Amino acid sequence: MPIYEYKCGKCGSEFEQFRRIGDDDDDLKCPKCGTEKPERKLSATSPGGGSACGCGCGGGTKPSPPKMKIG
Ligand SMILES: [Zn+2]
Repeated sequence: MPIYEYKCGKCGSEFEQFRRIGDDDDDLKCPKCGTEKPERKLSATSPGGGSACGCGCGGGTKPSPPKMKIG
């Protein structure tokens, strides 16, 4: 399950979320101010950028390991 990075357009807070491929961001909220639909910064897999099959399954490309946040 890839981790996506998001940035709130209101308060500028950046955070990470586990998302399944194909999920939209409609249910996401900024953890700081509660603004809905934060901006997705970058994805672990780049759509159309090397995926062999184009279905979003990854096509064999390996995303970088997720960042561990402790605390
Ligand atoms: Zn915010």
